[in-house]
Amino acid sequence: MVTCFEDMLEELDSLSPDELSNKIAEVKDSCVCITCPSYDGTGEINVGFCTIGKSDLITENKGCSCGDCPVTSILSLRWGGYCMHGAAKDIFKAETESMKGELLEEACQSDEPRAEEPPNFDIDETRFDQF
Ligand code: SF4
Ligand code: SF4
Repeated sequence: MVTCFEDMLEELDSLSPDELSNKIAEVKDSCVCITCPSYDGTGEINVGFCTIGKSDLITENKGCSCGDCPVTSILSLRWGGYCMHGAAKDIFKAETESMKGELLEEACQSDEPRAEEPPNFDIDETRFDQF
């Protein structure tokens, strides 16, 4: 059972191209972006920004309905505002890179000898090329 976005990435990574396309179509069908105040009046017609990435037309944050969207729990998403910040996998990647940078900085500043190997935050960047 998928309980976090990291597990969901693994699960989606195992899908065939057709299965992945179907999954993206399911996301778009369930997306509630059209009910969102940030979406309203922008002329945007795309949906499912958590998978397709930023909108060219939505630029002003007037609130986000992602928390009310079934896709949030289906994909174990933990962010929002994907139309302005990018696809969930890209936000996740940026967050992980930032965490890795902080850990490296801490390690460089520490006088303590390193007791064990640091956690491995490597991500397979070829995942979800279709997203
Ligand atoms: S989580 Fe947000 S962007 Fe993703 S499908 Fe739902 S409303 Fe749309
Ligand atoms: S991603 Fe969030 S902020 Fe953007 S249109 Fe969809 S619900 Fe609104």
